[in-house]
Order: sequence, then structure tokens, then C-alpha cells
Amino acid sequence: MSRFIARRFASMDAYVPGEQPSDMEYIKLNTNEMPFPLPDFVANAVKNELDKLQLYPNPDGSRLINKLSEIYDVDPENVIIGNGSDELLAFTFLAFFEAGVVFPDITYGFYPVYAKLYDVPYREIPLADDLTINIKDYTGIGQNIVIANPNAPTGIVLGPEDIEILAKSNPDYIVAIDEAYIDFGGETAVQLTKKYDNLLVIHTYSKSRSMAGARLGFAIGSTPLIEDLNKMKYSFNPYNVNRLTQVLGEAALNNEAHFVQKRNEIIEVREYTHKKLEELGFTLTDSKANFLFCKHPDIGGFDLYSKLKDMGILIRQWNKPRIFDYVRITIGTREQMDALITAIGQIGLKDLRTKKEKKSYEKK
Ligand code: PMP
Repeated sequence: MSRFIARRFASMDAYVPGEQPSDMEYIKLNTNEMPFPLPDFVANAVKNELDKLQLYPNPDGSRLINKLSEIYDVDPENVIIGNGSDELLAFTFLAFFEAGVVFPDITYGFYPVYAKLYDVPYREIPLADDLTINIKDYTGIGQNIVIANPNAPTGIVLGPEDIEILAKSNPDYIVAIDEAYIDFGGETAVQLTKKYDNLLVIHTYSKSRSMAGARLGFAIGSTPLIEDLNKMKYSFNPYNVNRLTQVLGEAALNNEAHFVQKRNEIIEVREYTHKKLEELGFTLTDSKANFLFCKHPDIGGFDLYSKLKDMGILIRQWNKPRIFDYVRITIGTREQMDALITAIGQIGLKDLRTKKEKKSYEKK
């Protein structure tokens, strides 16, 4: 750290993304990417655009926004695009959460980071013991709310009826629903944004649309909310989504059958892996995302992560109270998941914990 950094950032911890190592080829099941590359009908779309890179992109992203508004059955003025959904989350914190925000104690790790970055007071509301969100904790709470749905890293999903309760019971506060993983088994709350002017739904192309590397997200909400987010965008980086990404984003919407097929493939492999892990003695949450969240009585989260890393498989683990026993495993191809199951079998999970560790696990 230099001696020039603003005082308010000196003690701030930045977000730590999942590791992206280049020392060897891993089976990468740690950052919830899709295992499938972009199909040709999307990838080919950038070819013509390469000749135009000397020109700035359209700051409004209007072609892409028009197409998104058709797919999601909303008006174009109800959509904004961002450089990944992270950027739209950042704009949301900046624009709306001055008075504070609440979110679950176990959720996407970027929320507290944005809160600190923008000097937003925040309160973490504990998940129930079974790691579900208790809607009653947020009903009529009289505070701004951000919730990932499905939640991360638990994968547990709320229904649109729950989201409606939140929006309806907190009419003077923003309810931001981060639907990064909604396409893998949840039901989107997008249509509710027509009824509730305080509801903002944030989506990403990074997961179900196989475009994490292109950085593209979008948010849907009432016209005034989107105007406010645009104010943030035009005060920060009007050209936030580059030309190539805008074109890819548009092309990706040209074949919804392909999208549904790939998404369904992940759901199928998730259910297959869930069953296999249960057979190996794991306890899992009911994840409706493209990852599983699980723990095993014979091994702690960090040890399992380390052993699998040594075997060339990357998963994610957090040194965080309540979930340090858990690991999060991204769903890859069927072959990748079979390799994971084989590797876990080879570890031989029995009796890897010391007696003391076992005692403390059993108490939980
Ligand atoms: N929300 C959640 C819950 C996530 O897990 C992620 C991925 N790290 C994001 C938002 C951000 O995704 P992106 O910026 O790639 O759209």
C-alpha cells in the first residue's frame, strides 16, 4: 500500500476472486463458469465487429437492450447493461443504499466489499440453521435489501412469491435480487418489476450463457430505477460494455433452444453429481444453481479442497464461520464430474479428521 491511498480505503479488504491458476491444467470447478465454449453462431458474430474496434461502442447498448427486452418481455427503458453483473451491483450500492442495506450472513462475498467501498452501512442477517433464508426476517424490515437468488454459495432458491412479499412489504426501500444463477432451476422475478417500482432484478451472461470472459450483465427494473443506474454509469464509464461483448450478447439471444439445451445439461449433471456425492457420505443443500454446496463428516472443507487441488481439481472453500466445513463445487461436464467422484474415492475419506476435529464437527 502506498502512503497516498485515501484514508477510508487503507484498512479496506478487497474482494478475493476464486483462483485462476496458470501453473498447470486443472479441472476447474471453482468459479461457477460453464464448461462449454461459446457455440459458433455466437463466436462468429464478432468477426465483422473486429473491423470497427477503432470506434467507441454504442454507449446505450440499444441493440442488445432491445433484444433483451424482447426476450424478457419488458420495455427497453427497463433494461441496463453492465460490465458483468458485478458492475451493476456496484451501481446499485452506489445509487440506492446510502441509508444502508441488509443481506444474509452467508452470501455473495462482494456485497460487504461494495458496502465498504461506497461507505454503505450494512447488516448481515443470519441464515437459518439449515442455511435457508427466512423470508420473515426481511418482511417489512424497512431497509434496503440485496439477496442472491439462488443464494450463493448455498444454491438454495426462493420462489417469486417470496420475492413479491419482500417488495410489497418494503415499498419505500429497494429490493435488489441478484439472479446470477436463476436459469439453473429457479423462477425469475423479472415480471414482478412491472408491479413493484422498488424491485430490481440483476442477471449475468457469465453463468448460463457461457460468457464469463466477455463480462456482460444486465438489470431490469422500473423506468426511474434504470434511469438512476444510468446516471451512475454515465458518471463512471459510459462505454462500460465493449463492442465485441455487445455483439456477442446479442448473438447469444438468437438461439434460445441451444441455451435451454446447455442449461438442462448442467441441471442433469448437477442431479447426477448430487446423488453420487450423497452415496459417498456427503451432506448437500438443495442447490438449484450450477454448483453444489456440501460437507463430509470425515474431512474438513480446507483439507478436501487441498487434497483435490493436489490431484488437479479446483473447488472453492471459505475460511468463514458456519461454512468452513463446506466446499462449493461447480458443475462441469459429466466427464469432469466423474473425475471428481473418482478423485474423492481415491482420497479415502474415512478417519481423515483428528478425534478433536470430529468432536467439534459432531457438535454442529
Ligand atoms: N452475483 C453472484 C451471486 C455471483 O456469484 C457472481 C459471480 N461471481 C456475480 C454476481 C458476478 O458475476 P459477473 O460479474 O460475472 O456477472
